[in-house]
Amino acid sequence: MTRERPIKLYVFDADGTLRRTTVEGQPCPNKPGEWELIPGVRERLEQIDWMRAGFGVASNQGGVGTGYMSREAAHRLLFDMAAAALGSAPPAGSIEMCPHAPYSNCPCRKPRPLMLRRLMHRFRATKGETLFVGDMERDEEAARRAGVRFLWAHEFFGWERPADGEARPAACDFPDGDATGNATNR
Ligand SMILES: [Mg+2]
Ligand SMILES: [Zn+2]
Repeated sequence: MTRERPIKLYVFDADGTLRRTTVEGQPCPNKPGEWELIPGVRERLEQIDWMRAGFGVASNQGGVGTGYMSREAAHRLLFDMAAAALGSAPPAGSIEMCPHAPYSNCPCRKPRPLMLRRLMHRFRATKGETLFVGDMERDEEAARRAGVRFLWAHEFFGWERPADGEARPAACDFPDGDATGNATNR
C-alpha cells in the first residue's frame, strides 16, 4: 500500500463537478439563477479542513469567447458557486477561468495544464500535493499534463456513475455544439 502525501491543494472543475444548470436544455449557466450546486457538494467540502488545504477552481468558459456572456459575468458566476460550495467567500486568486473560445488555441484551455499550474504556484503546492477533480476527459488530461493527482467527480463526491446515455449535467463548454443547448459533449 502506498502512502500518499496529504493534499495541500484541491482544485475543482465547475460544470458537472460543483454546479449544474437549472435551465432545461441549456448545458451551462449564463447568468445568476440558472445554476445550483450539485447535491452533496457542500457537505463533502465541509469535511475538508480549509485551514490546512487550498481551494481552487479551473474552468473552461468558452461561452465568454463565443459571446454568450462577459468575462466578468462568467467570473462572478464561478465566484458565487465557490462561495456556495464553501459556505464563505473563496480565497483570493482561487478562481482560474479560460475565457477563450474553443479552438482558439489559447494557452489556458483544458486539457492544457496552465490553469492548474497557476493555482499550484499561487498556493505553493507541489504536484504530489495537488488534486484535481473533474468530470470530463479533458480534465483528466489536464491533470496528467500538470503531473497532479486526479479524481473523477463521481469518485470524489461518491455519486453513482451515470449510465451511458443518461442525462447528466453537461459542461459549460461545447466542442461539438454551442452554448444555446446544442452541446453534444458528455
Ligand atoms: Mg465539467
Ligand atoms: Zn484560454
